[in-house]
Amino acid sequence: MALELLLFQTGAVDIVRRAFHPWLPEPERSEMRRQPVWSALIRTPEGNVLFDTGLHPVHVARPEATFGPLADMKVVMTDEDGIVARLASVGLRPEDVTVVVNSHLHFDHAGNNGAFPRATFVVQRDHLAFARERRQSFPGVYWDIPALMYLPADGRTRVAKGVEVVPTPGHAAGHQSLVVDLSEMGRVVLCGDAAYTRENLERGETSGPDRESARSSLALIRSLVNDDLDRAFPSHDASAWATWRHAPASYR
Ligand SMILES: [Zn+2]
Repeated sequence: MALELLLFQTGAVDIVRRAFHPWLPEPERSEMRRQPVWSALIRTPEGNVLFDTGLHPVHVARPEATFGPLADMKVVMTDEDGIVARLASVGLRPEDVTVVVNSHLHFDHAGNNGAFPRATFVVQRDHLAFARERRQSFPGVYWDIPALMYLPADGRTRVAKGVEVVPTPGHAAGHQSLVVDLSEMGRVVLCGDAAYTRENLERGETSGPDRESARSSLALIRSLVNDDLDRAFPSHDASAWATWRHAPASYR
């Protein structure tokens, strides 16, 4: 059985353009754009691997549930965006997921961790420590749940044959991306917030508290896909998302 990669939209955010492209001048930098939030499922002979768990469905009725009203960012979510509903659309239940990889523990990437009490969670050890010290930015209600089993990773770690996490810090300490070696498409990288958009990868530039690490991480992702940016999947890029296959279609 070859690896199969499926992409699910798990919500969206209306977000100010400078958040992803800090080099933009006014007035562009202050414009709002709607960008997707997504999760990926990798079917492997060793079990199903889920990359990121998306936004929690509490945001369907209350978009401001996590952070209150913000001028720069607003959650947009429908019932069908919840990851449990998305998985059900391809015939899977939460207990069918063996491993969850979180790129990091922000609420749009770890929002439904609580739905997977039977899974093993792979998160970089230094990211777990980083998030525990910053509860305001990493609300524990979504991920710091006693029933969940976190397996702290130290650097590059094999998740399944052809599936590996690779540290890509910058957006946050211990942020990681997922490298998947597909038989037809070749190597792809699920960037997480190491690259919000394709333009981040093209320019080698992004935003984030640690710009130097962020730049190195973008360079690493480019090298992993031999500069073929069609094989690097950024986290919040509506234009790129529109060109990708969405579940139930898949990449192999
Ligand atoms: Zn994000």
